[in-house]
Amino acid sequence: MVINNVIILILMDTICYEAYKNLYINLTNRCSGDCIFCIRNFANGVNGYDLRLSKESSIDEVIEVLEKQDLSEYDEIVFAGLGEPTLRFEVVLAVTQWLKNRNFKVRLNTNGHVALINPGKNVILELKNVGIDSISVSLNAESEEKYNKLCRPIHKNAYSAVLDFIKGARKAGICVRVTVVNLFKIDVDNCKMIAEKLDSEFHVRALYESKNNEIY
Ligand code: SF4
Repeated sequence: MVINNVIILILMDTICYEAYKNLYINLTNRCSGDCIFCIRNFANGVNGYDLRLSKESSIDEVIEVLEKQDLSEYDEIVFAGLGEPTLRFEVVLAVTQWLKNRNFKVRLNTNGHVALINPGKNVILELKNVGIDSISVSLNAESEEKYNKLCRPIHKNAYSAVLDFIKGARKAGICVRVTVVNLFKIDVDNCKMIAEKLDSEFHVRALYESKNNEIY
């Protein structure tokens, strides 16, 4: 924009960004945890995208951005940004519904605190009802004690809430992938056994080293 011969750069927030043949939706920079390895402590974003938001976008604003994309180009549309998406649960639900009405595959990447963040709601039923296809849950530890040290959740009993969320999602028939970071403090084999017991897939995420890691 040029005003009185002065060029003013208007930097737009990155609401959606592409990576790995997926389109990611960045809803918030807030989180109910404070993981020692959180990418927010080291960078402004991933894959060359600046994911710091000047404000959180509304449902209409997210849909407006999605409408401008050819969504058929992507394998999945994924809620994952520089924060915990389920702090904007109503937006997750409404945008998922909009995407599922158009037959796109939708994944939620989450820290699994969704029931603690949204008390009084049947969060799994609501996710199921809007047709979410899969959920990737960041477990990150084989015990509550270690989880609290690594992830520093603001809610009490967060670790058991994460396990309950995974169990409930599987019971509802939603595909779940349990993830951990490849941090030396984490007993990855034990976490894998927990994932198997919870009838979930398991994935080890590369710890933040470069710009090329998916969040969660
Ligand atoms: S849950 Fe995710 S966004 Fe939140 S602090 Fe941990 S790594 Fe960061």
